[in-house]
Amino acid sequence: MTQKRINIAIDGHSSCGKSTLAKQLAAALGYLYIDSGAMYRAVCLYFLQNDINLSDKKQVSMALDQVNISMENNEGTFLIQLNGKDVTNRIIRLDVSSKVSEVAALSIVRRKLVEIQKQQGIHKGVVMDGRDIGTVVYPSAELKLFVTAEIEVRTQRRFIELKEKNMETPYDAVRQNLMHRDHIDSTREDSPLKQAEDAILLDNSFMNREEQLFLCLKLAKERILG
Ligand code: C5P
Repeated sequence: MTQKRINIAIDGHSSCGKSTLAKQLAAALGYLYIDSGAMYRAVCLYFLQNDINLSDKKQVSMALDQVNISMENNEGTFLIQLNGKDVTNRIIRLDVSSKVSEVAALSIVRRKLVEIQKQQGIHKGVVMDGRDIGTVVYPSAELKLFVTAEIEVRTQRRFIELKEKNMETPYDAVRQNLMHRDHIDSTREDSPLKQAEDAILLDNSFMNREEQLFLCLKLAKERILG
């Protein structure tokens, strides 16, 4: 008998390990991992490169028509291309991080990306992380997690990640950026970051990756078998 496949929605604050968890869950279940934040970042990069004025609706709409995003999973690594060029590492730099929440607050941008994300989940077997996955993209996902951690813990994790990728950024700039994005993401009008009513809250401030994975895998298996 073939096993039931489910969709898993992981939302939460910036840099709380959502993508690490999502990647691990996808690998353990043989599912597809999709980083929805990378899609917003790729659009933001295009807008930065082309000097798009975010308050000019027509300019934004025309620019958006020129954006072609493709994604692939390569041996556990999520790769994203913008108009045929790999931008996976480029989009985590601070220039993109500083602007991405303003770009993601635009309804026209969200409409385009949410449509793609919904399509990706049609056949189930997807683990997607983001801000509105459990509330808007997959409101009927069988498992929804809302992940958070203390700000200092999140800053430290991001700071180390950037350093390891040779993109060293001052600790305080990283901290400010996380707080700035959380504020915009939670207060925007269209699809604000919030915990879905049926999402499970997970504060991983004092949890290691293995403990977190063990717990979430158990929740996923209960839903697959249940
Ligand atoms: O996940 P990541 O931190 O890379 O996302 C970058 C930004 O993209 C977030 O701060 C948020 O503004 C936006 N985003 C969003 N909705 C999603 C995923 C990301 O608005 N589903």
